[in-house]
Amino acid sequence: MRRVATFGRYLRAHYGVPVRKIPLSIPGFTCPNIDGSLGRGGCSYCENESFSPNLTTRLQQSLSFDSANPFLADQLTALRQQYRKSATWYRQNHGVRHFIAYFQSFSNTYAPLQTLKALYQEALRQPGCVGLSIGTRADCLKEESIDYLAKLAKKHDLWVEIGVQSSHEATLEATNRMERYEAIAQSIQTLADRGIRVCAHLIFGLPDESEAQMLQSVERVCALPIASIKFHPLYVVENTALAAEYRTGSFTPIDEARYVAVLTEALLQLPPSITVQRISAGVDDGSLIAPLWCRDKNRLMGAIRKALYHKGVLY
Ligand code: SF4
Repeated sequence: MRRVATFGRYLRAHYGVPVRKIPLSIPGFTCPNIDGSLGRGGCSYCENESFSPNLTTRLQQSLSFDSANPFLADQLTALRQQYRKSATWYRQNHGVRHFIAYFQSFSNTYAPLQTLKALYQEALRQPGCVGLSIGTRADCLKEESIDYLAKLAKKHDLWVEIGVQSSHEATLEATNRMERYEAIAQSIQTLADRGIRVCAHLIFGLPDESEAQMLQSVERVCALPIASIKFHPLYVVENTALAAEYRTGSFTPIDEARYVAVLTEALLQLPPSITVQRISAGVDDGSLIAPLWCRDKNRLMGAIRKALYHKGVLY
């Protein structure tokens, strides 16, 4: 029976030992769609300062990034603490000793190059760190940063994760994404041309998108030189514009059966060269408003496995 090319299988084959990604949230990082450079408020589903008074410190700090970065020491300390806490947990509970440091929150190339270099190098110095995965927006990659990432990619296992979400301009506009698909596609091509592996993120259930449109985005993104992909359903959390839309009834989340059906089709159409890093929502805290089925990851994974099995594929 055919198996989906999961990222976990790729890591086991590549390293011969278990490797886990450690998510990092660097204080002070933000995004041009939040800090006013491109827009304020961010994408409609993004929890950020505009909606959460608790996060205003992040915004104030991030605006100081223009020249010297007075927060670098704090950022390095936070990185070390987060990495070591997760690494210790994985070691003690699963015997895992090798990790990829995953710069996850906000746009992790949106800072002066000296700051980025210091943080990436610090991550690579952490015990057991075998590589980096850097999440960002396609328009947050300056030429000098790409040059540096290309150098790192020659020596380390380096990934850049690009939020694509949809290939449809109307959807990108409706969600206040503040970027165009063609520009995102061009940026992915540029990274690949420089030898940097790209993981693309797609969301299913964006406002007014049909299944055919979702699958069209999969087809378009897979035609780009990506090495990996992540999928998740659009979910509504507190402190977002989408939460207000949901409460007024102008947005209805995708239901579980529809998500499983479209995801199954998407997985079936993926070329085997593209590994799959995520297929579930990954939110189970008190901030989730809807859909509540996103909380039960085990049940969702069971439903996806069953649907794929009926098509002759193992996840
Ligand atoms: S690009 Fe990412 S960090 Fe920026 S507003 Fe959108 S979801 Fe939030």
